[in-house]
Amino acid sequence: MSASYIEQNDTICAVATGMGRSAIAILRVSGPDAISIVDGIFAGRKKVADMETFTAAYGRIVDESEKIIDEAIVLVMKGPHTYTTEDTVEIDLHGGPLVVRSVLELLIRKGARMAEPGEFTKKAFLGGRIDMTEAEAVMDVIDSLSRSALGASMKQLRGELRDKIVELREKLLYETAFIESALDDPENYSLDGYAERLTETLDYISGEIDNLLKTADEGRLIREGIRTVIVGRPNVGKSSMLNRLLGEERAIVTDIAGTTRDTLEEMVDIGGITLRLIDTAGIRDTDDTVERIGVDRAREALNDAELVMFLVDATNGIDEEDMELARQLGGKRVLLLVNKIDSIVKMDASDGKTVADKASIHPAADGTCSQNMMDNAEDRTDIKEPGKYSNNDDLVHIDRLAELKKILEQEETDGLRTLYTSAKTGQGIEELCNIIKEMFFDNSLGNEEDGIIITHTRHKEALIETRNSLGRVRESIEAGVGEDFYTIDLMAAYETLGRIIGETLEDDLADKIFSEFCMGK
Ligand code: GDP
Repeated sequence: MSASYIEQNDTICAVATGMGRSAIAILRVSGPDAISIVDGIFAGRKKVADMETFTAAYGRIVDESEKIIDEAIVLVMKGPHTYTTEDTVEIDLHGGPLVVRSVLELLIRKGARMAEPGEFTKKAFLGGRIDMTEAEAVMDVIDSLSRSALGASMKQLRGELRDKIVELREKLLYETAFIESALDDPENYSLDGYAERLTETLDYISGEIDNLLKTADEGRLIREGIRTVIVGRPNVGKSSMLNRLLGEERAIVTDIAGTTRDTLEEMVDIGGITLRLIDTAGIRDTDDTVERIGVDRAREALNDAELVMFLVDATNGIDEEDMELARQLGGKRVLLLVNKIDSIVKMDASDGKTVADKASIHPAADGTCSQNMMDNAEDRTDIKEPGKYSNNDDLVHIDRLAELKKILEQEETDGLRTLYTSAKTGQGIEELCNIIKEMFFDNSLGNEEDGIIITHTRHKEALIETRNSLGRVRESIEAGVGEDFYTIDLMAAYETLGRIIGETLEDDLADKIFSEFCMGK
């Protein structure tokens, strides 16, 4: 427990709910004077101090001049069996921001202090109620962007990662203790054949660490989202696709080429995974300065992207501009989306002719059939059943699609996939989610039965360091140096693992972690 904490043994308060307008707002007060401070502002039938723990009471919040600020319900939770391990009082108020602020100010005048972000959870950690992995999980649960991220955080919150780390640390401690005992008391503890036994333990621990590390990349994608860029020449439907994925109209969609002038980043949970979607202005050369800025940003976004959704327009076919774009996607993980598939005129599969009701399938803006499109469709005698747009390339013919794919393959894009979609009708969107899952995760994603997933870089780094220390123990064994050499690296491994659960965490690091918490938690 840090010294700063003991000095800081005061009573803190904060709003636990959002600060905007809401039906109710909850204030939290925690610390040794929580009960007496709330008694100073609460007028109910009983004093808060006389209430049983985990009971609620109705009353009024009154200020120093006996003015009623609001009606309230207080909930009393007496330490140590509370989240923070200290006495805690929650005050439910009517949600207006003014009321909430007045009550907070009143609490502060009565001796409470505004909590730092994450300070309630920090108290829980310092009070020994939760370890660092659980504290971080609290933060992640609050920040969760998708169901899988939430699942991973909940596991961590349940202490599964901690249990694994504790188990591995115990083994390391046991071996260290054994070596020390044997060196001190060789008559009772023999080191004969010990190196082999230790090697077995090292194999086991390293294996477990490797398993955890294997999950780290997926874990980061789960927690932070897959950085996704939507590219395509103007008017292929990038903004529409972004909106479709977001499920609401956010980007401005227009018919004029080049209207998406800026990049726009949105987080979206699709089918349990998070995409960090970056909508870009068309990546192409342009003389327009404003648009130019968007284009530069788009290039930057493209460089960092983990997934590129490359849209082409099924109605207009593929042109040189698409080919040029494809040449810029070298080494990227590309999902090629042939968009506007809803507008492709259906051909009768049996005779290769268009089906009778073209107009209903390809209506022009005024509801009549577009002659231009019909002509276009007549040329494409090999269009079959695009309604079954699924990932089967044979079903639809798009001019020069094969050529485009060839370029993407030549550019060594990573696991190219193609899909027919409609941003307008939502066709193919469900499949899109499944394909992204396949591209990035083992199919185990989101399965409750899964093992632990490492979602924090901090944990990953500690695991790598631990693995390095264990490697040095192996080197010592191979070099045949004395057993006392082993203990140095075994203990180093013990320490670094401890860092994950906060056992050997320096105070400043703990402060840093908690400062990322939101207020009131
Ligand atoms: P962007 O320039 O690539 O962002 O393209 P927009 O999203 O602004 O779309 C350009 C035009 O194509 C708009 O009129 C959209 O309504 C239309 N559009 C986009 N996606 C589809 C689609 O899947 N099907 C059809 N029929 N029209 C689409």
